[in-house]
Amino acid sequence: MRIDVVSIFPEYLAPLELSLIGKARQDGLLELNVHDLRTFTTDKHRTVDDTPYGGGAGMVMKPEPWAQALESVAGVREGTKPVLIVPSPAGERFTQALAYELAEEEQLVFACGRYEGIDERVIDWAQEHFTVRPVSLGDYVLNGGEVAVLAMVEAIGRLLPGVVGNPESLVEESHSDGLLEYPVYTKPSSWRDHEVPPVLLSGNHGKIAQWRRHEQFRRTAERRPDLLDNFDAGQLSRADRNAL
Ligand code: SAM
Repeated sequence: MRIDVVSIFPEYLAPLELSLIGKARQDGLLELNVHDLRTFTTDKHRTVDDTPYGGGAGMVMKPEPWAQALESVAGVREGTKPVLIVPSPAGERFTQALAYELAEEEQLVFACGRYEGIDERVIDWAQEHFTVRPVSLGDYVLNGGEVAVLAMVEAIGRLLPGVVGNPESLVEESHSDGLLEYPVYTKPSSWRDHEVPPVLLSGNHGKIAQWRRHEQFRRTAERRPDLLDNFDAGQLSRADRNAL
């Protein structure tokens, strides 16, 4: 996969050189380029923002530097229409399901807004060259799109083949089957008067699987009952229902 990120703070994306994503880049599993929006300006002050039409607080990102930047990035592969993700608190919610969907793409472009956001005409214009998706990290407001991009690239990148050493660990995670993950423990079995649940020491794999499933439902009901709305009651086993 190829990922391009356009930002006025390219240094903000430096953590993507670390850990599993950094290694995936080194191993050639992921090509990731960060572009400075200001290199696509033409005035000597390298201006990327201006006052909003209609008045109001804050500044708005000017359209032309964005068009120049996105044309330059999109033109890399002729004949393809990459997905352009525009981080925005007014976008669709980023979820694990969306991460899986985007992990199937050949090229993703991220446009990091700042100030009050990007002139809306950029979104309209970009539809000709990209599949445009405004995406929100959650129902709160950040100062810029960079933090959202760090989170999204990490969530998408770890789903690419070969990035996570043991692909099994992706299957049992929170949100992979619509539920939260069961609690996990490691050695020692007794720690500061807190014990590991005995079933996990039993060696009985059937019972362990049953306990984990039960814990998934119990924890989801306790912390994120909204997720259970997606489950058809008819599909639940008796054990699943008992955990609720
Ligand atoms: N005025 C905008 C609004 O109310 O929708 C918020 C602008 S915010 C201060 C600046 C930039 O931060 C946005 O253009 C977007 O790129 C990014 N941003 C802020 N909150 C976000 C969120 N929840 N998810 C994704 N990106 C976000």
